[in-house]
Amino acid sequence: MALVVQKFGGSSVADATSIKRVARRVVETKRAGNDVVVVVSAMGDTTDELLDLAGQVADAPPARELDILLTAGERISMSLLAMAINELGVPARSYTGQQAGLRTDARYGKASIVGIVPERIARSVKEGDVAIVAGFQGVNEANDVTTLGRGGSDTTAVALAAALRADVCEIYSDVDGLFTADPRIVPTARRVRRITYEETLELAAHGAKILHLRAVELARRYGVPLHVRSSFSTKEGTWVTDTPAGDPEEEAMEDPIISGVAHDRSQGKITVVGVPDVPGIAARLFQVVAAAEANIDMIVQNVSTQRTGRTDISFTLPEADGPATLRAIEAAADVLKYAEARYDDQIGKLSLVGAGMRSHPGVSARLFGALSAAGINIEMISTSEIRISVVTRIEDLDAAVRAVHGAFDLDSAESEAVVYGGTGR
Ligand code: ASP
Ligand code: MG
Repeated sequence: MALVVQKFGGSSVADATSIKRVARRVVETKRAGNDVVVVVSAMGDTTDELLDLAGQVADAPPARELDILLTAGERISMSLLAMAINELGVPARSYTGQQAGLRTDARYGKASIVGIVPERIARSVKEGDVAIVAGFQGVNEANDVTTLGRGGSDTTAVALAAALRADVCEIYSDVDGLFTADPRIVPTARRVRRITYEETLELAAHGAKILHLRAVELARRYGVPLHVRSSFSTKEGTWVTDTPAGDPEEEAMEDPIISGVAHDRSQGKITVVGVPDVPGIAARLFQVVAAAEANIDMIVQNVSTQRTGRTDISFTLPEADGPATLRAIEAAADVLKYAEARYDDQIGKLSLVGAGMRSHPGVSARLFGALSAAGINIEMISTSEIRISVVTRIEDLDAAVRAVHGAFDLDSAESEAVVYGGTGR
């Protein structure tokens, strides 16, 4: 007998019919002899609708009220699912994040979990219930309700799985698992059977909308095996563990060097032209950027010419932080003594990820070769041990993803990816 945590995304519980379908699935798992804890997201687009409503009554809704409002979405789906499961003759009880013992810090809208005391859930399961927990929410020290940030139900599920020492955390959405690229851009993208936590983290951090980043971090820290799969089919999905892919029998057909290509359209680039090439200038520039609370990603500094003693520094950051960061740099023009500062939001970022890169030379050459053959200019490059990212013009990004996907033999013979509900959540 195993303890299974199952998390169902919004598309899996979008309406009454879907909730009944999920209930049958949960009951099957329970009747197969497992203990089951379920974490649910809000139904369909509920969270967006609630946000929209808040915007209609207030220009700047207080963060505390907004969080209480948003947690209502998950409370609706949890109680409906409990009813549907009871209807099938299996006892089920639903619990809010607070009841489930999920403690967070006080940062409304993006709270971090500081601890879980899952006694109530453990007891419920011991008594034979399916325990259903509202995702994406907890409670702070003052006993006020908080939310974990958009997509946070994944994190609730993994945190509970870790605290309860579950055997597996199954993450259900409307796609069959993780793919080698976004199937909307590369129809021949292939389902990944197994992938490591660190590869998944790199993919998620560089634009792949697969799992909540913090959920993967937690899963890695506590060694929780994740099984990412569809609630609309019974196919095996993708296993995320710390064991690398490349089982010679099972995956002889797959290239084990690369596990996927992620893309990101949500970044912008700031270039500061003609900064004095003297010690301390980069420090001062990035102090200004940090004070503007921008999360920067790639940084490139040109070689300065001896003649001018000046250089250019470019860096990428989320588009949402772009304008404010540019203003902060402009406000510090006296100290930074540059010639010009520019902001460009028409960039795209492609990232190639694979643990096999560590031991296989020639990956960059192949990547750059594929882009050059497709006539795509590279504006910036950055790497980690298992990732190479490049910045291109935004209009070249899709072609770049396809070219690179093909160059690393990731294409499958036919289209494999099915998005059942249409949201990927
Ligand atoms: N309902 C929340 C959202 O839409 C949390 C989640 O779905 O994970 O972001
Ligand atoms: Mg959602």
